[in-house]
Amino acid sequence: MPEMILAANWKMHHTLDKARGFVRELLQQLAELRKPGEPSVVIFPAFPHLAAVAEEAEGTRIQIGAQDCYIREEGAFTGEVSPTQIADTGASCVLVGHSERRHILGDSDELVAQKLTAAIAHGLRAFLCVGETEDERASESSRSVVEAQLESALTASDEITAGNLVIAYEPVWAIGTGRHATVADAEEMTAVIRAKLIQRLGAQSGQEIPILYGGSVKPGLLAGYLASGLIQGALVGGASLKASSFASLYGEMKTAAQGAGSGQ
Ligand code: PEP
Repeated sequence: MPEMILAANWKMHHTLDKARGFVRELLQQLAELRKPGEPSVVIFPAFPHLAAVAEEAEGTRIQIGAQDCYIREEGAFTGEVSPTQIADTGASCVLVGHSERRHILGDSDELVAQKLTAAIAHGLRAFLCVGETEDERASESSRSVVEAQLESALTASDEITAGNLVIAYEPVWAIGTGRHATVADAEEMTAVIRAKLIQRLGAQSGQEIPILYGGSVKPGLLAGYLASGLIQGALVGGASLKASSFASLYGEMKTAAQGAGSGQ
């Protein structure tokens, strides 16, 4: 059974004080995050807050990740941040190919693949985001779009293992819109992703890489996505900004993880 993961994408939100305060409040509400166990929790703050949030989370089960990375280790690339610099802050994960990077900031499949390769080569766990736009869904090309995004990223690195890759299926039309994929649609796309992972990486890694759903997840909705065990968690934007709402989502994840552990 792949690891279960609840991840918070804070995008360009929070001040430094709020970012630190969130972690303290979350740890007050969920003292169990100070001990090992599942589900795993990953927070993706803005670059300037990585080190401070990593410091607040030190010694707990909360892992920290950056929202993007550059493809080179160092050099004259003004404004960019390398995987090594990210790791230096205490972060261990990085998002690559988030839809806002692909559709607002112009990251191509090729650049996403290079970012994934660089991240993994420098010891970061890559959270690769894939998903179709509304027009692509309407023209029934969701499957081919997501397969192409995966194909490009998965063939770029020969160092991928179940421990250094997580896939987030995030339909673009559902991100930050209050609209979410039905459980059946999310599961159908998860099956497409799982088949591609197995085809490209072999049965062992392919079966163990966690697949998350993302797109307007909020408390009360998550349990439905996790019920069948096909989806191993969520990447959450808006509903991850308040510690209380993120703690509720964690509660739903934990119930699902306990059900999976008891074979229900
Ligand atoms: C995201 O940023 O990856 C996301 C899924 O955002 P939201 O939950 O706000 O739709």
